[in-house]
Parts: sequence; C-alpha cells; structure tokens
Amino acid sequence: MSRTVYVNGDYLPEAEAKVSIFDRGFLMADGVYEVTSVLDGKLIDFGGHAKRLARSLAELEMTCPVSEAELLAMHRELVARNGIEQGMIYLQVTRGNPGDRSFLFPDPSLPGTVVAFTQNVPNLADAPAAKVGFKVISIPDLRWSRVDIKTVQLLYPSMGKVAAKKAGVDDSWFVDEAGSVTEGTSNNAYIVKGNRIITRALGSDILHGITRAAVLRFAAEAQFEVEERAFTIAEAQAADEAFSTAASIFVMPVVEIDGAAVGTGKPGPVAVRLREIYLDEMRKAAI
Ligand code: PLP
Repeated sequence: MSRTVYVNGDYLPEAEAKVSIFDRGFLMADGVYEVTSVLDGKLIDFGGHAKRLARSLAELEMTCPVSEAELLAMHRELVARNGIEQGMIYLQVTRGNPGDRSFLFPDPSLPGTVVAFTQNVPNLADAPAAKVGFKVISIPDLRWSRVDIKTVQLLYPSMGKVAAKKAGVDDSWFVDEAGSVTEGTSNNAYIVKGNRIITRALGSDILHGITRAAVLRFAAEAQFEVEERAFTIAEAQAADEAFSTAASIFVMPVVEIDGAAVGTGKPGPVAVRLREIYLDEMRKAAI
C-alpha cells in the first residue's frame, strides 16, 4: 500500500515525492536524521529526538526550516494518515538545494529540505528477535570521529550490517583502535556483570542514544548500578549478559559475540527486565 509521506510542507503519495539531484543530502551526505518509534499510535520520546535533532543541526551550522511544534504536528499527521499503530517515523533534514554542486556551505538563509515517512512494523514491541536475542560479530570502527552527530552518512554502518548478514548473524559491534567496543551499527552496546550495567561513556565516538538515556535512567531507578566506561570484546564475551538499545529495537538481548555465547546463550534476566520496564514506562509517557 502506498504511503503518504512528507516533503517540505506537503503530504504526498510516496511515488510523487521528489527531491532535487542537487540536494546536499544526496550529493554530500550533508543532512541529519531522527527515527522515532510509534507504539499504540503514539510517539515514543519525541522530546528526546527533537532535542538531539536540534543538537545535530547546531553542530553542523544548519538551521531547521520547521519548528519543534510543527515537527510534532507533522509526525502525528503521518501516523494518522498512514494508520500506524506500531512502527517508526523517519525524519531527515538536509542543507537543501543550492542549485549546483559545491563543497562550500550555501548561504544559511537557503531553506533546508525536510522529508519524513512512516515504517509500519506491526510487531515492533513484540519482536520475535527479542525472544531469542541478537548474535553479533565485531568489526573495526572505521567511521569518522564525530558520530555523536546523527548524520545520514551511513555507508560504513550499512557495510557493518552486510558483514553481519554474510556471517549469518544479526549485527556488528564496532571496536576502536584501543580494542574497546564503541557501539553497534545502529544501536548502543552494553554488558551486564552481576547487578552492574556497563556501557561506553558519552563522547564524540558514539551516538548519544535517546533509548540509552531512558534505559540508564530506568536502570538506576530499578537499583541497578550503572558504570559508563569502555569494555572489550573479551570482557563482553565473559559477561553475564549483553544487550543493545535503539529506538527501533528498544532493549535487545545480545546472546553471542564473535561465535562465543554470552552467559547462558539466551536472553538474560536483566535485559529482559529492562525491556519490560522501558516499554511500560515509555508507553505511559507516549504522546
Ligand atoms: N548508535 C548508533 C550508531 C545509531 O545509529 C543509533 C540509532 O540509530 C543508536 C546508537 C541508538 O540511538 P537511539 O536510541 O536514539 O535510537
């Protein structure tokens, strides 16, 4: 079924939505994005995503032609027009179309391009993968060093997903030059040791996950210890549990890393509990 999508203020059938070949998002990956999940037809943590979008734009000296209130209204409109009960809204803002190709940023008064579309995932909350957990491989982190900005340069993460698929697993975890895990291709990475949840500290070398922030808050409230520090693949393989978080997977147990089972090789109780808490709390707060 054809979706209704959003392009620069218009709601259009997806086949009629067009962006210029000179758009800097297309030519230079000069754009940022957000993915907000939808449960029960409502937006999960929209405020967090809007805040991170504003930060990504500011870091790149971009202005958003649409206010946060307009973005919220547009997200809700897309949910309604496409009848989304569970799924995601993808939003992208680029520096726009300066009319030709040039490395220099165009005049900041040039309006950016704003597009958004829905992805219908009827079993998002009840994903079969969450019952068995992800298997991951590790690969070198060859991305640029400002991955805290959520840009649309996703070629290397895409290669990481392809490498995982070729290896017969679900995802790749990136490892930096010092041998520490940074994050997954499109998610933040964690290990569990006893009552302690360990995840890399915020910096320019990971995306500041909106799910990460909520999960760490809920974990602390549930009396888990939270330690923000780097860990290696060997430490992760020897941990009691591992998991990943992202808006598209919530809390996803990780049961195997580079062929070695983590813990029992089944989703662990901490990851399962955190997933339940996250879904309960975020459903209550959805707008
Ligand atoms: N890390 C990377 C590299 C990502 O691409 C994502 C999400 O796309 C995340 C972490 C998780 O971020 P969030 O929880 O905001 O979805």
